[in-house]
Amino acid sequence: MKDYLVKATTFDGSVRAYAVSSTNTVEEARRRQDTWATASAALGRTITITAMMGAMLKGEDSNTIKVQGNGPIGAIIADGNAKGHVRGYVNNPHVDFELNEKGKLDVARAVGTEGSLSVIKDLGLKEYFTGEVPIVSGEISEDFTYYFATSEQVPSAVGAGVLVNPDHTILAAGGFIIQVMPGAGEEIITRLEEQIQSFPAISTLVSEGKSPEQILQRLFVDEEVKILESMPIEFRCKCSKDRLANAIIGLGNEEIQSMIDQDHGAEANCHFCNETYHFTEQELEELMQ
Ligand code: ZN
Repeated sequence: MKDYLVKATTFDGSVRAYAVSSTNTVEEARRRQDTWATASAALGRTITITAMMGAMLKGEDSNTIKVQGNGPIGAIIADGNAKGHVRGYVNNPHVDFELNEKGKLDVARAVGTEGSLSVIKDLGLKEYFTGEVPIVSGEISEDFTYYFATSEQVPSAVGAGVLVNPDHTILAAGGFIIQVMPGAGEEIITRLEEQIQSFPAISTLVSEGKSPEQILQRLFVDEEVKILESMPIEFRCKCSKDRLANAIIGLGNEEIQSMIDQDHGAEANCHFCNETYHFTEQELEELMQ
């Protein structure tokens, strides 16, 4: 199945919902970063949620997400936009633990249970909006649930899951975000809470071949689900040699001269996609001008 997400409303417009199937996108991140299983789950959940948050934006706007916990993977950085492009990396990809007592990948142990989750919205015109909340569980989904409730004041339920094959490739990944609009009755909230409590793991549903539409229909049972939009998503990096050249220019002439004298060139690596760009001595000399 190709990766895509859907936006929908239900309960006569009182509830907004997003669901995504993100297996290939997460696999592409894993392949590029060489993440081990627990790190893949942490990064994959974050990328999956970032893709859905991108769908909340318009035009050229984008989001950058940073989960900075005190666990061994270090920070998780992801960004996504309204076009379905998402990318992300973790500081330390080679992190893997035994399954936790629930038989799941121990994401909280990899991420850590203390730290912060921040969201920077680039809304063009150099206007940045930043929201930051403390990490509440390190399991990622609960942390984003807390972010939406606290920082954006939108009561939400966030779910994201990743299943990893024995050879460390990604078997299935997906997620949902459900948001209750102002004025929705208590009865709707109670029914949603019951549904979410008894809902199976989303990664299992994706691995069984369930589409985002089917996942939402299963969440909302016999309520009518109105699909507003369907959008492909993919791992896509926006790095280029020019962008990395700018980063090298930022190091200053003295530093560039020492790259020429000592290394006779330079290599610059993109954190997001792990692409390496080479700069010759002559190219470095041009950057100094
Ligand atoms: Zn890149």
